Amino acid sequence: AKAEGRNTCRFFDPEMQAHTAQRFALQHEIREALIQHQFQLFYQPQVDYTGAVIGAEALIRWFHPQRGMVSPLEFIPIAEESGLILQLGNWIVEEACHQLVRWSQHPATRELVISINVSARQFQQAQFVMQLLTALQRTGANPHCLKLELTESMLVQNPQDIIAKMDELKNHGIKFSLDDFGTGYSSLAYLKRLPINELKIDKSFVNDVLVDSNDAAIARMIIRLAQSMELRVIAEGVETKAQRDWLEAQGCLHYQGYYFGKPVAAAEFGNSP
Ligand code: C2E
Ligand code: CA
Ligand code: CA
Ligand code: CA
Repeated sequence: AKAEGRNTCRFFDPEMQAHTAQRFALQHEIREALIQHQFQLFYQPQVDYTGAVIGAEALIRWFHPQRGMVSPLEFIPIAEESGLILQLGNWIVEEACHQLVRWSQHPATRELVISINVSARQFQQAQFVMQLLTALQRTGANPHCLKLELTESMLVQNPQDIIAKMDELKNHGIKFSLDDFGTGYSSLAYLKRLPINELKIDKSFVNDVLVDSNDAAIARMIIRLAQSMELRVIAEGVETKAQRDWLEAQGCLHYQGYYFGKPVAAAEFGNSP
């Protein structure tokens, strides 16, 4: 994809992934990478209409000693199908909590909210709520500064269970964003039962919003829907001022994308600690 930088290396192509041996090798490497500390969380700024940074999405990066930076699009699916996402997910939560604590110690970053991506399998595991609350307690991170990004497709499987978990986490102050909204199998009737705070307009719609009237119509629809349900709406993949201005004119007041900042290591995030 065009988003990938020069030092992103694609070493497992989709056809290779069909082979069990290759998948097994990658699983082994992920397990090893956890032990060798090859993963890192990057943070991409989220801004409001004034340009103020209000938070960051945590995006995992794998720095492979031989292969360079490996895209999460390549290893997250393997981690999901192998169950390694549970270990990886715990690491992500732990790491994000530590970053929240670091940011909480400085006035300029105190209010920043970290959004983390949660996989279906990770959220569905029985201990997820307990592990997350324990991590928050142990690290001293403020639950009000944590947002979980869930995708609509993962919400259709076992709605009662998922809503119960969301409610419990919400009671502790944790927020929810519905990621990739509009790209999956959304049931609009079901949407109103979910205790979410935010809809996220997928970058696939934002990308062509100025040139493709269908994408514009979908983006506009999502913004209206969010407004009428009193949810925040954030657009991802905003790359130009023109896209940002169009979104603002439609009533979308929160943005994320290369126009505002690429995902970077915490040390490079603003002037933050
Ligand atoms: P996503 O959650 O939809 O994340 C947004 C992706 O868009 C990220 O790709 C981000 O770097 C990229 N992006 C941000 N702004 C722009 C822009 O202006 N233009 C373009 N073209 N792209 C932009 P990334 O970091 O490669 O992550 C890909 C996917 O991998 C994520 O999609 C998410 O589904 C998954 N992922 C990443 N980190 C994690 C994680 O910590 N846990 C889990 N479960 N999944 C993750
Ligand atoms: Ca996301
Ligand atoms: Ca997306
Ligand atoms: Ca399109």
